[in-house]
Amino acid sequence: EDFIKKCPKVELHAHLNGSLSIETLQKLAIIKYGKSNSRFKELCDDFRNFEDHSMSECFQKFKFAHELTSTLECLREATLLAIKEFSEDNVVYLELRTTPKSTEEMSKRDYLENVLLAIKKASEDYPNILVKLLPSIDRSQGLDSAEEMFSLVLDFLEDDRFKDIIKGIDLSGNPTVGNFGVYKNLLVRAREASLKLALHCGEVENPSEITEMIEFGMDRCGHGTFISGENFELLKEKKIPVECCLSSNVVCGTVKNFNEHHFKRLLDANHPVVICTDDLGIFNSNLSSELTIAFNTFSLTIDDLRKVITNAVNCSFAAEEDKSDILKKIEAFFI
Ligand code: IMP
Repeated sequence: EDFIKKCPKVELHAHLNGSLSIETLQKLAIIKYGKSNSRFKELCDDFRNFEDHSMSECFQKFKFAHELTSTLECLREATLLAIKEFSEDNVVYLELRTTPKSTEEMSKRDYLENVLLAIKKASEDYPNILVKLLPSIDRSQGLDSAEEMFSLVLDFLEDDRFKDIIKGIDLSGNPTVGNFGVYKNLLVRAREASLKLALHCGEVENPSEITEMIEFGMDRCGHGTFISGENFELLKEKKIPVECCLSSNVVCGTVKNFNEHHFKRLLDANHPVVICTDDLGIFNSNLSSELTIAFNTFSLTIDDLRKVITNAVNCSFAAEEDKSDILKKIEAFFI
């Protein structure tokens, strides 16, 4: 366990508002509501307590974080603290994702700009971690909202301050709401703008959408839980890396238990597969503990561990020179 903690790691699937630990949420509550915030403990208990382990209950949990990141100051602080905690877990490369939101105090443009500013600040405060951003389309919000987000992304790609930070687009949100086809045209334009695509795919059972998505293609697949039969063969043929989030899937009930997680099937098939946290605040975990769960559940060897972490570097959206720097750090650790 200590070995995994010390190991330089790469996190590719982390939603910003899901990546706020209880300690971070507590700090944000103090900034937002002041010290005498008696509701906080109550909210925390509520936050930790899962009653029905369903996807919809998991999605309810985000409201808490969203309330605490609805001001510019809290949003910047939240981004910085999330990066700090990944860095303390020896994550050396992180791709954060988030859907821009407008609130009373900020527009979606302000949201995106302030997350980017916080990432820039983190590069000074936490120089051991390199952070990139994948702005998210929330599939439950519809095309207009996604288009609005995408036009902001195109603007920021022209901005010298931020153009190296934005690396791709994520498609996420409640997988039981909305449909993929609506976003295809936008995703084609994202590709044309040299953005990579990390798409949540097969998080719930929906074979026709899964086929449509794999045929469309993506640079990485989020979850991939219900990809089977011909879809699985197509995924392998296209060598699309899969981001596996163990605790997330078990807590949300899409996978019965760790032993049955599809991570092992992918690893055994020698398919590029990585371990990620998804929403460490919600699942009370971090990347080291997710890797430890994989290590113990599937009796992995040190070589397997090295392979999974190396896979993550290779399928990251980092520039080639950054990838080789990160690989050097990892190789040096495993010698
Ligand atoms: P945010 O985009 O920073 O607000 O992070 C939280 C959001 O990420 C949620 O509201 C969802 O839209 C998305 N999200 C987090 N976890 C999952 C997941 O497991 N599947 C799909 N979407 C998710």
